[in-house]
Amino acid sequence: MAKKELTPEQLEARRAGCRKSYAKHKEERRISRAKYNAEHKPQIKAKSKRYHDSHVETLKKKSNDYYYTHKDSAAKNNQKYRIDHQDRILQHQLEVKIKVLTHYGNGKCACIRCGFEDTRALTIDHIDGNGNEHRRKTGMSGGLEFYRWLIKNNYPEGYQTLCMNDQFIKKAENKEMARGEQKLRERLTKKSPP
Ligand SMILES: [Zn+2]
Repeated sequence: MAKKELTPEQLEARRAGCRKSYAKHKEERRISRAKYNAEHKPQIKAKSKRYHDSHVETLKKKSNDYYYTHKDSAAKNNQKYRIDHQDRILQHQLEVKIKVLTHYGNGKCACIRCGFEDTRALTIDHIDGNGNEHRRKTGMSGGLEFYRWLIKNNYPEGYQTLCMNDQFIKKAENKEMARGEQKLRERLTKKSPP
């Protein structure tokens, strides 16, 4: 016997019934799935690893393809995220900065020489004055990237929190000035009367 064709109304009624039943049991399904996942963690992990190991190349290609076909939209999404969450991002960046400044300020977010506390004019100083060399070696421009690097590397020794004033004073004391400034000073000393 041929299957009876349903009218559009009957089809819609059937779909509505399915949707209703799906919604009714949604929570039950979620709980039972979570229970199953929790009880079978090792098996699920092993199965996923098996799949991954036997499909390495395909997965790599898929991921690459996805990246190239979604490059523009991903960049757009990132930009939108940055605009929508500007305050939160700035707050997070400030928290990272304060964390590092406090560590190198011996437990206080302040200059270790004069106690100045405004984070806008506090920086991390290379005690040996080799900041330029470090920047060249690591390719870091400083700022947030540098703070993150310090945290990631478990706060290496050789740094201290200084205010901008004290950093300039220290540079002058240790003759760590930029070459241009150094030359100018040399010229001025030569020209000055005895
Ligand atoms: Zn200071």
